[in-house]
Amino acid sequence: MKQWMKKLVDQLDVDWGNSASKTASDAAPQLSEDRATLLYIIDTYNKHLFEVQNHSVRKVRDKLDAFAKDLVRPDSEEIEKALFRFRQFFSSYRIDEYSYVQNTFDDFKRIIWEFADHLNEEAQVEESAMADMSQSLEELREAVDSNSIEDLRAKSRQFINFYLENQTKNNERRSKRMDSIKKNLTTVKKQLMEANQTMRRDHLTGAHNRKSYDEQIKRYLQLHDLDKDPITLVLLDIDFFKKINDAYGHDIGDFVLKECVRILEESFARKEDFIARLGGEEFGVILPGCDEASAIKMVEHCMAAIRKEVFVQDKIEIRFTASFGIAPIQPGESADSWYKRADAALYQSKQTGRNKYTVAGPTPIKKVA
Ligand code: GH3
Ligand code: MG
Ligand code: MG
Repeated sequence: MKQWMKKLVDQLDVDWGNSASKTASDAAPQLSEDRATLLYIIDTYNKHLFEVQNHSVRKVRDKLDAFAKDLVRPDSEEIEKALFRFRQFFSSYRIDEYSYVQNTFDDFKRIIWEFADHLNEEAQVEESAMADMSQSLEELREAVDSNSIEDLRAKSRQFINFYLENQTKNNERRSKRMDSIKKNLTTVKKQLMEANQTMRRDHLTGAHNRKSYDEQIKRYLQLHDLDKDPITLVLLDIDFFKKINDAYGHDIGDFVLKECVRILEESFARKEDFIARLGGEEFGVILPGCDEASAIKMVEHCMAAIRKEVFVQDKIEIRFTASFGIAPIQPGESADSWYKRADAALYQSKQTGRNKYTVAGPTPIKKVA
């Protein structure tokens, strides 16, 4: 089996009934490249899910997990049914996803449209005031033409009064309009910022999401190109998280995820530290200004905090651990290669017993602690 297929299969929690095998991919039956590609697509989809109305990320993830497991089963009759269910699910989910994006876009448009509408109303008021003014000017012109001094005096006084009154009204209107524009602008800004924020945050834990991580990592790489300061990427994945879900239910699983983010925020608390939830129970932490030694120190502190944490549910004590991959940046490295090295180190931690960290080497693994 090719390396990338092995990694995919190892991620699945399927018992192949061959206890002698070290990894799932050793025990799993051969997998065609077609099926593995579908598996790959499901896996990628799974990693980039976002909260869509009527489809919680969790439920969609469970469904996709189930499809992935069906895909690796050898039974050809079952696979046909599974593929049918997958097609059905995918088309309906894609439509809902599309409407969600469309609705969000429509919301943006509505906010801007209301603002433009308001400005337009203001412009109309201004226009009608200008029309009154030119009417009064016209009357003054007629008085000049009429050669009657009385008429001219009366019309001049009338025009001056009208002009002054109009100016005062104008000033009042202008300041009111400015107030209202300011208020409107503040609302628009707030709404846009809120929308922006929710687009970049993970719905469940409040940590940054993958999209935000992708953007941030590029910024940090550009900065690193300029200042050459050390910077380290840490990936971590909760150990046997599935068992926590299976034993205590998804709500407790969700709770553990939130608590994990809380501990990460306490352990990586400098304002430049960046914490993101990259997938189900996988997190990425970017540590600017940290070389290998200082990143290790921070990770050790974080691991100690996680090990110390105990949640009590129905008198049962729940604990969890996590495995880490630490990758100090290499000169001229791309975001992709940086992530892959950290991921390989994390994978090594998993393969060699979990609840530990591994430091990534240039390509091979450097040391496990
Ligand atoms: P390992 O130590 O190898 O990482 O094992 P694991 O059980 O942690 O990893 P695995 O990938 O087998 O299982 C991850 C599980 O996390 C499967 C998925 O249902 C669950 N999960 C993903 N997202 C969420 C979520 O938002 N909430 C909850 N409660 N569970 C989630
Ligand atoms: Mg895990
Ligand atoms: Mg995982």
